[in-house]
Formats: sequence, C-alpha cells, structure tokens
Amino acid sequence: MPLADSECGVSVASVPSTDGLPTDTDVGVIGSGFAGIGMGIKLKEAGRHDFVILEKAADLGGTWRDNDYPGCTCDVPSFLYSFSYEQNPSWSRMFSPRDEIWAYLERCADTYGLRQHLQFSAEVTGAVYDESTGRWQVEVNGSDVIDARVVVSGVGALHIPKTPALAGIESFEGESFHSARWRNDVELDGRDVAVIGTGASSIQFVPAIAPRVRQLSVYQRTAPWITPKPDRPIGAREQRLYARYPVMQRAVRAGLYWAMEARGAGFAMTPRAMGWLERGSRRYLERKVPDPDLRAKLTPDYQIGCKRVLLTRDYLPAVQRDNVELVTTPIAQVGPHGIVDADGIERPADVIVFGTGFEVPGSLMHMKVVGRDGAVLNDLWTHDGAAAHLGMAVSGFPNLFLLLGPNTGLGHTSVVFMIESQIRYIVQALDLMDDTCAAGIEVRADVQDRFVERVRAKLAGSVWQSGCSSWYQDDRGRNIAIWPHFTWKYWLDTRRINPADYRLVRVASRSDV
Ligand code: NAP
Repeated sequence: MPLADSECGVSVASVPSTDGLPTDTDVGVIGSGFAGIGMGIKLKEAGRHDFVILEKAADLGGTWRDNDYPGCTCDVPSFLYSFSYEQNPSWSRMFSPRDEIWAYLERCADTYGLRQHLQFSAEVTGAVYDESTGRWQVEVNGSDVIDARVVVSGVGALHIPKTPALAGIESFEGESFHSARWRNDVELDGRDVAVIGTGASSIQFVPAIAPRVRQLSVYQRTAPWITPKPDRPIGAREQRLYARYPVMQRAVRAGLYWAMEARGAGFAMTPRAMGWLERGSRRYLERKVPDPDLRAKLTPDYQIGCKRVLLTRDYLPAVQRDNVELVTTPIAQVGPHGIVDADGIERPADVIVFGTGFEVPGSLMHMKVVGRDGAVLNDLWTHDGAAAHLGMAVSGFPNLFLLLGPNTGLGHTSVVFMIESQIRYIVQALDLMDDTCAAGIEVRADVQDRFVERVRAKLAGSVWQSGCSSWYQDDRGRNIAIWPHFTWKYWLDTRRINPADYRLVRVASRSDV
C-alpha cells in the first residue's frame, strides 16, 4: 500500500488542477490509448491521484483515435480486446468497429474519473533524469517542463505513420495521405485511387472504398497470409444477457482467451506447428479466388505467422472486382497523374493512399530520453537493439517504465492482456519504492541481460524470424516487437515484482537502500 504523504515525502493524494500543465507530478503517463488509460485507472484504484496523462493529440484514444479509415475494425475479438475489469455487454459485433472501441475508451475515462488528469495537445518531446533529485524533467511541446518522480510511457509501437519516399512523389498533382491520417475531406467517389501496401490496415479499407471509386490499383509488395474472420453481429438479446449475467460474458471471454492461446501454440513453439493454419489459409484462397493467375499473386512465399496473419472475409472478393487491379510489379516512380511500375506501365491516380504501416523502432525515439550518467535511450537502442527487462524497465533509466515496450507485442491475441499485466507490475514497483522509502528504482543490468537473452534465444528459430521481413524487426533484422511465448507465461513472469531484480536508491546519499 502506498504510504501517506509524510512518511517518505511522497505525494500520493493530491489531484492535479485541470487548467494548464502541472509543474510537478508523482507519475507522468505518456499517451492516452489503452495503455495510458489503463494505467490511470489502476493508479487511481491504488489511491494514487497525483498523476498526469500527457497526450499529444486533442483527444484520447491512441490508435483508435488515429485510425479513422473506412472499414476500420479490430482484428481481435472485442471481449478480449477490452479491460478484463470493464467488460462491455453492448459490443455490436464479435470484432467491433473502431468507433465503438474509441467510445469505450472515452467511457472508461469518464467512469474512472480520469478527465481531470488528462492534458491534451501536450506532446512529450524529451525527458531527462536528474540524479541529484531522482526525478525526471519531462519536456512537453519542446518548452514546458514537468518534474515527475516516475514516468510511464504508454506510446505503443504503432503511432508514427511510415510513408515511403517514392521517387517522384513530389511531382504528384493529386492528394496523398497515410491510412492513419485518413483525409475524410478528400473525395474518393468516382475517382482513380492507388493504394500502396497490403497489410492489416489496407485489407480493411480496400473493401470499404472499392465500391465507391472508379478504378482502384492496389500495389502489393508481399502477399499476406489471410484467414476468414470469424465475425458475427451480437444481437440485442445476447447483449441483454451479458448485461444481466456478466458471468456469461466472462465465460465467453475465457473461452476465447484459451482458444487464441491454443492458436498461439504454433507461433510460440516451432514453425512446423503452423502447418494446419497454412493449409487452411491456402484452401480458403483456392475456394475464394478461382483465377489461377490472381491466386498465384495472392499466394505468400514465406512461413505463415512470420508477418501478422490477416483476418478478413471481404478483401479477396474486393480484389476480384472489375474496378480493382492487384499490381505486383514494383513501383518505379510516381508521376503527376499516377504511378509508373517497373514495366513502365502507368496507372492513373487522383489519390494515393499509403497503407504502409508505422515507424516501429522510432516509436519511442522521437523523444530524447536521457537517463543516468547521460545515457541516451535512442543511442543505446540503436546500437544494441531495443531491449527492456520484461519489456518495461531499462537499466540506466531509473523510475521509467514502458507499457508495450520491446518484445511485448503479440501476433496471436490481445495486447490489452499484456498491458494489464504490466500495469499491475508497475503499481507494485511504486508500492515497493514507497515501502522502502526509495527515491529511485532501477533494474539491474544483469537481470535485464538475462531476460533479453532468454527472449532472443526463444525468437531464434521461431516463425517470426523464419526469413520474412516485418515491422516486428528493426533495420538490422532484430526482432524488437514480439513476445515469443504464451501470454499466460508473461502474466506469470510479471505477477509479482522481485525486489532483488532492482536497485533501490536513496537520492540524498546516492546509496542503495
Ligand atoms: P503493415 O502491416 O506494416 O503493412 C504495411 C504494408 O505496406 C505491407 O504490405 C508492406 O509490404 C507495404 N509497404 C511498406 N512499405 C512499402 C513500400 N516502400 N513499397 C511498397 N509497399 C510497402 O502496416 P499496417 O497494415 O498499418 O498494420 C500495422 C499493424 O497495425 C498490424 O500488424 C497490426 O498489429 C496493427 N493493426 C491492427 C488492426 C486491428 O484490427 N487490430 C488493424 C490494422 C492494423 P511488405 O509486407 O512487403 O513490407
């Protein structure tokens, strides 16, 4: 339990003012997606009201605020892709649309009284650890500074759009935008549209815009593995049942959890175990795409699971429409009125949509984080690869915790489960600091190294490192994103913080507690 204000000189009870940024806070949380909102909920629940959630945008919601493209839905069942303690009986589908997920997060912020902690248009541009005080100087919007005892990053990996610098793009006279910055003001109806990329986002918006546009050219660099999405509407009767008997929803959630963990067995164990999934995906493609030439283009040439397996029932019908062409010849350049491929064929485009993913290694590196002895997180991670103990704590960076940090992303189930495990662990870390009157908590380098070695050993020979390139890897091919195990294993590993894994520091004497 957190101590009272006086015992360690730690403020846990004050509530920040809503007008303007505070000058100091106990916990500075960065980002207001599932991670930041979940962190705020559990801080309050622990009686820790002195925290601020810093959000660069004008509203909360993270990825579910940013991704406003037509057809955006979750590809993880909603019962699982939501907080375990805040089940929503009103999901309209098994895989809910983006608007419902965003509204859910807004509702969580209201229900748990987070509004007064949220600061919008507050982009964290840097953070420097002050060894003399054991506190972070958090730089906001390049000028304001907040003095924070602890910083928790909830920025996630998928928030900086990646737009390739295609030759000639500056000469393009139409409109172009990234799927995570969808331009609703740009007319698509009846126009020629080019889509670049065939990842998880693209396969959702291509079917949604295909019926509206005149001609759609979909530029595919690598064919994705696709399996049918087991989606269905949830009717009013079923919703009422869940509202009345929450235990039923919890039972369905538990069933889904274990079914997805079972599916994850192939991912987490050996590539050979993925054969059943690959055969199912091939059969689905054969059933849905009779044209052998198109089917050949849509057949992946790498181990299933190496990239995210995409769930959809409407993408394959969409690419077979008369007004849609799947282009697999590489892009040579962009001209004023269209895209020219490597065979010299120009396809007209009024609009280019980039479904080209996100800058994953750069997700935290856009801010300069300086730890103990002047260590710069960006430099460290660029050199050694992004790494953190349990994906949360980095040696040399006391009092800093990362939600969905390195190697805690997932390919087979809901990241909200990981986030909840991490939040519980971080609250325990705060309690440990208070119980021992430590001003600083820093993971031991040897403990972090052992964890990272274990993860890297598990990744070697896994499906995620079986020869494809994906956003799970950095530019040197190191997998910095995936938790290569079951999620219950992560839950077990993070269930109780081990004080021996950390150096607890008193600041005045700079001595270990
Ligand atoms: P992505 O999976 O990284 O896909 C990017 C696509 O763009 C790939 O097809 C890639 O081809 C292509 N591409 C990238 N650079 C290119 C270039 N220079 N020229 C041609 N093609 C290029 O990105 P995403 O679709 O935005 O999805 C990212 C992640 O977001 C997903 O894996 C998932 O975790 C998350 N997401 C989740 C949901 C959900 O429902 N929960 C929905 C959307 C996204 P290559 O494969 O050849 O690199």
